[in-house]
Amino acid sequence: MYPKSAIDKLLSRIDILDVIRHYLGGGLKQRGGNSHEWIALCPFHTEKTPSFTVTTRKQFFHCFGCGAHGNAIRFVREYEGLDFHGAVKKIEEITKIHIASGRTKSKRARQRSRETLRRIKSAHRRNAQEEREYRNLRIKRIRSGKGIVFS
Ligand SMILES: [Zn+2]
Repeated sequence: MYPKSAIDKLLSRIDILDVIRHYLGGGLKQRGGNSHEWIALCPFHTEKTPSFTVTTRKQFFHCFGCGAHGNAIRFVREYEGLDFHGAVKKIEEITKIHIASGRTKSKRARQRSRETLRRIKSAHRRNAQEEREYRNLRIKRIRSGKGIVFS
């Protein structure tokens, strides 16, 4: 189980562009004149004109075609079909930044953990809520015939 603080630290150290580029490679093109935005054919639905964007300043991806949206962890989850922890591990592999799965825990760190336990718990509740919303959205999309294609 990764503490949320470790996840936040990981997300602050990585660049979502490195993660997505690992999968899409040269398919990602910088949008003219805007150094914060990259565009590609969406990996989550079939399209001929790119509507998949990566905004490095905000560290998220968004597809104007199918509505796929999220941070680096969400991208890897969707692309690889991994659970949250699997995706975090994968991101550490790709970026070679190992923060979240570090096992060195000092006494002080354990103390801090106890102090943040309450916050972590509420974060988990938020995650569960997000998960439910995401499922509902997916169900809605499938019902409306705009299903995301998972390979
Ligand atoms: Zn899409």
